[in-house]
Amino acid sequence: MTPVLYFVIPCYNEEQVLPETSGLFLEKLNSMIDAGKISPESRVMFVNDGSKDNTWNIISSLTEEDPHYCGISLSHNRGHQNALIAGLMEARKRCDITISMDCDGQDDIACAEQMVDEYAKGMDIVYGVRNDRTSDSAFKRTTAEWYYAILRAMGIEIIPNHADYRLMSSRVLDALAGYSEVNLFLRGIIPHMGFKSSVVYYARAERIAGSTHYPLGKMISFAIDGITSFSVKPLRIITVLGAIVALLSFIGIIYALISAAIGNIVEGWTSMTCIICFVSGIQMISLGVIGEYIGKIYLETKRRPRYIIDESKNLKEVSED
Ligand code: UDP
Ligand code: MG
Repeated sequence: MTPVLYFVIPCYNEEQVLPETSGLFLEKLNSMIDAGKISPESRVMFVNDGSKDNTWNIISSLTEEDPHYCGISLSHNRGHQNALIAGLMEARKRCDITISMDCDGQDDIACAEQMVDEYAKGMDIVYGVRNDRTSDSAFKRTTAEWYYAILRAMGIEIIPNHADYRLMSSRVLDALAGYSEVNLFLRGIIPHMGFKSSVVYYARAERIAGSTHYPLGKMISFAIDGITSFSVKPLRIITVLGAIVALLSFIGIIYALISAAIGNIVEGWTSMTCIICFVSGIQMISLGVIGEYIGKIYLETKRRPRYIIDESKNLKEVSED
């Protein structure tokens, strides 16, 4: 039995990109069907993440042109990770394997075939890993390296230079369905699940049109979410930092008392100001970190749905489980 494969492709305001890349996805799907590697029931599934442009109209007309295209449209923009999980959870009911990727042509579609070959060898997860970062700016490269180092220090296991281009088997998708958290960091959760996995390497291309949805600000908040949704080490660091500052303060108090006792009192405005600034700075940062976690608890306790599907096209009916 050949496996049913679903490409899961989140799209947000991608009207410039989709007309070009959709054909490449279908071509690859058809060539794998013809080669007998995947079932003819396989699909290219687009997830419209509440786009404000013509993206959903383009997806709709694609689904009318070829039965191998299907699509779901989320009721509003929920962000890349949620769009991805929406697509994966819908695909899970209908397929044996998914391959998730960007719709902008950055993830080399040729690798999809290697991923399916790895699955045939018994792998449950196949990670697409960039073999070079030359298409990135020096700034992005350096910050990415620092970020990986911080994640490692926090005990978070991720695959360096891997984004969301990956194959997952239905076993992995079923396990993923058990993770009901709202703060999803797939790049951390998936290696954490511990299934049999392998890696295929590819050169990440430039976006074929349009511009990234991850400018610096969003990138930083994604990076912070990655850490705080996975590790409580920053809270531990605050405690240690608090203890060090308290110890230093204690030494300072003894010094001040001894100075006062021997009558050696100087004006000391500069040192006083520095100490106050330093300690209050640390306090503000610490409160911010704690706030991050409280914010996350707040979002989790509401247990809101991660996505709401507004419309779907060409989606095979399945019984709800
Ligand atoms: N995307 C999405 N919702 C968003 C932002 C992005 O579904 O709110 C999609 C986007 O259409 C693309 C993928 O997620 O297919 C990755 O985004 P992008 O290519 O802008 O990020 P980059 O590759 O530059 O990191
Ligand atoms: Mg991209």
